[in-house]
Amino acid sequence: MRAILRAGLLTAIVVVGLGVAGVAAQRGPRIPPTGTIEHIKGNLWKIPGAGSNTTVFVTDAGVVLVDTKLANNGEPIMNQVKTVTDKPVTMIINTHVHPDHNGSNDYFKAARPTVEVVTHENTKKWVTANPKASPAWMPDRTFTDKTTIGKGKDQIDLYYFGAGHTNGDAFVVFPSLRAMCVGDLMAWNMAPLIDPATGGSVIALPDTLEKAVKGIRNVGLVIEGHGNVNSWDGFRAYAEFNRALLNAARAALKSGGTPEQALAELGKNPRLDVFLTEEPLKDLEYGGTPKSRALINLNVAFQELKGEPVTTNFGPPRGGGPGRGAAPPAAPTPPAPAPPAK
Ligand SMILES: [Zn+2]
Repeated sequence: MRAILRAGLLTAIVVVGLGVAGVAAQRGPRIPPTGTIEHIKGNLWKIPGAGSNTTVFVTDAGVVLVDTKLANNGEPIMNQVKTVTDKPVTMIINTHVHPDHNGSNDYFKAARPTVEVVTHENTKKWVTANPKASPAWMPDRTFTDKTTIGKGKDQIDLYYFGAGHTNGDAFVVFPSLRAMCVGDLMAWNMAPLIDPATGGSVIALPDTLEKAVKGIRNVGLVIEGHGNVNSWDGFRAYAEFNRALLNAARAALKSGGTPEQALAELGKNPRLDVFLTEEPLKDLEYGGTPKSRALINLNVAFQELKGEPVTTNFGPPRGGGPGRGAAPPAAPTPPAPAPPAK
């Protein structure tokens, strides 16, 4: 079980950490291909698979895509878009810098050079800092705290409330449909991966989510970065869970406890059950379960709270290591084999 978990997480390291996403897509049997477009509401659709969700918003001026999956999925995405509209893709909003969210920007830029790429300012910083970044990841337009694109039924509001999964995570709101995309600040309705290499922080995450809960009005549907379409109530509960996780880490650290003990404490609150299940989720790309991801983020919290470099964001190192409150229990020594019968 543990070996399977590690293998899945290594896929995530390759995809998210090293950015050679195309290779990972070939090697990672758990990453499903671009799926069939699903209607969400009004002029809003979602295409699952091949990395991030791609949200499709059809406006009078053209199609806006939120995130473009792993590399080499431009044509499959476009084929799905064509089943709902003849309009061209005119804008791409990337919720953050990871290559499973902007990997196929190049296809749309090549097809139509005027396609406008929009990101948060910090995402531009990470693209600029990455010598291997595709030119198609570079935004044509950025924002800092809030900006509005278009108007009326085509209006899109972009918000930024601070660090979390990275430090450039945009909230993309469609006011006329009362819907929003949250990128990987929320994916699969479980503790999110944290990427310290691009400013992600498990300490900052609950603040960011709470600011979004307070600062974004009149949204009913929440499109997660991977996986589900959730509700506003689900989003609020998720913010509470991430706050509870950080509080549990603080309390355990203070009393000399371990991340595992903090996890056990969290498990006592039945309101958090959905975030701590051990059920494998269908089509989850990068391995783990809600429970194992929660434990990862407790380990990350321990390291951040102690001011240590975060090394446990894809799983604690085997045999203990930096950031663990204590080494994991040693494997029980197997009993000596019975002497062969004579
Ligand atoms: Zn991501």
